[in-house]
Amino acid sequence: RAIVRDIDMLEEQNPSIKPVPTPEVDPTMFEKRFLKKVLKLGEGHFGKVELCRYDPRGDGTGELVAVKSLKPERRDEQNSDLWCEIDILRKLYHENIVKYKGICCEEGSAMKLIMEYLPAGSLKEYLPQNKAKTGLKMLLRYAVQICKGMEYLGSQNYIHRDLAARNVLVENQNTVKIGDFGLTKSIKESKGYYTVKDDLESPVFWYAPECLVHCKFYKASDVWSFGVTMYELLTYCESACNPVEEFRKMIGPAQGQMTLTKLVNVLEEGRRLPCPTNCPLVVYAEMKKCWESTPERRIGFKGLITVFEQMLT
Ligand code: ADP
Ligand code: MG
Repeated sequence: RAIVRDIDMLEEQNPSIKPVPTPEVDPTMFEKRFLKKVLKLGEGHFGKVELCRYDPRGDGTGELVAVKSLKPERRDEQNSDLWCEIDILRKLYHENIVKYKGICCEEGSAMKLIMEYLPAGSLKEYLPQNKAKTGLKMLLRYAVQICKGMEYLGSQNYIHRDLAARNVLVENQNTVKIGDFGLTKSIKESKGYYTVKDDLESPVFWYAPECLVHCKFYKASDVWSFGVTMYELLTYCESACNPVEEFRKMIGPAQGQMTLTKLVNVLEEGRRLPCPTNCPLVVYAEMKKCWESTPERRIGFKGLITVFEQMLT
């Protein structure tokens, strides 16, 4: 007691030694030592995603999270890109967009993005395995949800630039969410498009002509990619007839820059991905509206939502 009184007195005389109250722990800062890798979930061009358990108590009861980091060979060139992705995802709140949970950044180790974990993976893994229980109605419901997520993204003045089945995650049988914002860019309201410099590893078969020819991305360019994603949905992401295979059949053998030139040619001739087997013509007609040559003539996400919802009633 005497000691406590003495300390109190000392603190009174000398306020600078008074302990400051410990700040609230930031729930979005994940400590590396508590992050235990369970398995690898997938990898794309730039990053890899792992399933981890965040287990501060160390008794295996911690929550499962999806952790995205850059491939080691990509770290130096792309670190700022992951920062951009984190910064964008942190500000997005929508039921059809994957939830941001936080980051893990500790000295001497690479930066990580922590997201909610969606056990069923992307549509690319989910659809081929769940064909039997996924009818046309369900596919149309997924389409509406993707459009709603995209409409929200556009309302925040972002363009996604990598909308594809591999980047749509399945929450459960009834719900999908857009994931992977690695190529997402903010657009200035006045300008309405974003110009890219690097197109070496772009997902060209998901890209609209203006992206391929002028490297310009509009909100309507995302609509084109949505049309290709819709095509993937209706083909249940079967690898035999995926967009890459179909376009390769159309353009014939080509490599590198030649692929791009030939792709632009077939698109300018008005050729498009075929109507998937068992896809009703009215649904294919909407896909074609996404593939109008010029961005101004394309349908928008709002329009698509209306049409698909009508088909569902
Ligand atoms: P990249 O930028 O490298 O393409 P993605 O974010 O698209 O990385 O993730 C790659 C793959 O990892 C996805 O196609 C999906 O299969 C899996 N994945 C990504 N995020 C999650 C998540 N939150 N839950 C479950 N699986 C995920
Ligand atoms: Mg991806």
